[in-house]
Amino acid sequence: MGTLYSASGRVSGKVVLAFLLSGLPAGVIGGCMAMFVAYMPLSGLSTVAALIVAALVLSVLLGVTLNAILRLAHVRNRRVGHVLALFSGMVATYSGTAAFFWIALRTGGTEIPVPQALRPDFLLEMLSTVDALSAAVQTLLIVIVVLAFAWIPAVISQRTTSAPYCEACGLWCDEFAPAVYLKPTSAAQLQKTIEAWDLEAVLALERATDQDRAMDIIETARCSGCRDFATVRLKRVHHEYGGKTTVELRMPPHVAPGVDVEMLAALLEEAD
Ligand SMILES: [Zn+2]
Repeated sequence: MGTLYSASGRVSGKVVLAFLLSGLPAGVIGGCMAMFVAYMPLSGLSTVAALIVAALVLSVLLGVTLNAILRLAHVRNRRVGHVLALFSGMVATYSGTAAFFWIALRTGGTEIPVPQALRPDFLLEMLSTVDALSAAVQTLLIVIVVLAFAWIPAVISQRTTSAPYCEACGLWCDEFAPAVYLKPTSAAQLQKTIEAWDLEAVLALERATDQDRAMDIIETARCSGCRDFATVRLKRVHHEYGGKTTVELRMPPHVAPGVDVEMLAALLEEAD
């Protein structure tokens, strides 16, 4: 019987390396944000809007990078992903603040060595020179940036940390690929059939054709190392007039019993 897939929560020893590695992209992204703030050609409200857009874009970039690092480190624990995102968000904000003051001093004609700009006591001193009102505004901006830099990568990290993983082989599954296209079926009936893992009954359901605007797609993600582990999920795809497509996840990934993986493999080959 198929059961809901849930990540084991385990991490590999490479998680330490993941934290060390994440500092580099986080530092670079913080530096990019600082350059953006320092050389901003806009003024007033458009500055704030541009800053928010820049923070969002850079946060997504950071999230994508962290995802790759979590995948390399075989992290199957959401919380570890969140902590890594928070850590990187803090590194990005710290390095961004240091880079901002470094650029500001340089523009004013004072060059200071980079290691000095990175020192916490120097940063505190620089922050204390800013007057009260702009200090409040800057604090608010920093809070927004930290939230964006930590929260967005944390959400993105779940894509990796909750992805199907074969614990026996120590490998991530391949990406989800469509196995069967069905005509829209009652969610309750289909979920019952899939949870009971009655593949014969699933195959007996009417298949979708190219003419169908809506279809239920059974997708599988299989272990790249063995033929015993696979997960199955169910999606409803709706093609609307005008080319718009909506996708709805009707059943989250369930573990398919190994015995039926061969049948699934045959189905996948048939679909190709
Ligand atoms: Zn495997």
